[in-house]
Amino acid sequence: MRIYGDNIKLGILGGGQLGRMLIQEAISLDVQVHVLDPAADAPCAGLAATFTCGSFRDYQTVLDFGRKMDVLTIEIEDVNVDALRELKSAGVKVFPDPEILAVIKDKGLQKQFFVDHGIPSSAFRLIESSDEIGMSELPVVHKLRTGGYDGKGVSVLRSEKDVETTFKAPSILESLVDIEKELSVIIARNEHGQTVSYPVVEMVFDDRSNLVDYLFAPATITQDLAEQAKALATKVADAFSFVGILAVEMFLTKAGDVLVNEVAPRTHNSGHHTIEANFTSQFAQHLRAVVGMPLGSTDTLRAAAMVNLVGEDGFSGPVVYDGLEKVLGMNGVYPHFYGKSETKPFRKMGHVTILADSIDALSEKVHAVKKTMRVISK
Ligand code: ADP
Repeated sequence: MRIYGDNIKLGILGGGQLGRMLIQEAISLDVQVHVLDPAADAPCAGLAATFTCGSFRDYQTVLDFGRKMDVLTIEIEDVNVDALRELKSAGVKVFPDPEILAVIKDKGLQKQFFVDHGIPSSAFRLIESSDEIGMSELPVVHKLRTGGYDGKGVSVLRSEKDVETTFKAPSILESLVDIEKELSVIIARNEHGQTVSYPVVEMVFDDRSNLVDYLFAPATITQDLAEQAKALATKVADAFSFVGILAVEMFLTKAGDVLVNEVAPRTHNSGHHTIEANFTSQFAQHLRAVVGMPLGSTDTLRAAAMVNLVGEDGFSGPVVYDGLEKVLGMNGVYPHFYGKSETKPFRKMGHVTILADSIDALSEKVHAVKKTMRVISK
């Protein structure tokens, strides 16, 4: 394989904000990034060395794009895995491995993988259709096996009416976990099996959108729980023989257990703060892992919070960042915009990282940012 320093060509399937932040780091590491995305105005368009407008779900399009690359990676899971298998056998380095993607893309296979590898996760069963849900099973969490994202494709069923109106497709039924906190561990693993993990993050979700509203890093949990969560993330990354960044989303239950909810085989929303808050950002780390560089330190420089900037409900059209001037004037507050010209309710438009010395100071600034800034339309 060609190695870094040799003008390595990295192809990314997907040209959204994750790809955009990978490009930012690729400039420093001198990795040449090429992007495939169906939207001509995707956040990576105009920034990548080349931008190919086409579908990452289409076999031939992915094959044609990938053939020209030394290394291929993704910033979205919903890609054509058969084309990636073909490219791998033709000698292109594909990270994450297509077989891992095939497992992770299907929540049913992913849950079975956890069972097979002794990774604690909530009990589940597979169903073909919602007709198979018994009333005695309620309350229960119903998830589409494939195609769901950002909470779309997840619903909590509590009543007969919920069961009647839920989706009919192949899905999983999961026991409802009594959640104390939602945690995430971002872990990187390279081809030699070296792993490094970031301090545990604590995520607070928005009930209306199911998106991360804000997060704190490191999480305010005991040292013992933090070590347990990191050990679990390492176990998952090793079980997959993963290469690249893997985000392991977990539940801390009210009973004090740590369970894996699901994994994302890519850079993740719960790692955006690492750009400012850690020695090596998750994006730089992913690039290092996939092009074969040594991994960097994950140590924390400063405690951080991250607030997602999502489109305000009720606003669609050309975006306006109302209150931005005030936020730009705040100390230790770093806005990131994803270059999307149109806002929609709950569309991820950017994020803000906040650095401070204490959880109280972080919390205060999170609320100040949320109160000051709104993503609306003209
Ligand atoms: P997605 O892949 O769409 O993000 P997740 O599986 O992460 O879906 O579920 C979205 C959210 O739903 C979680 O962050 C959590 O708040 C809630 N959730 C998911 N599974 C369970 C469960 N078994 N028990 C309780 N809440 C759950």
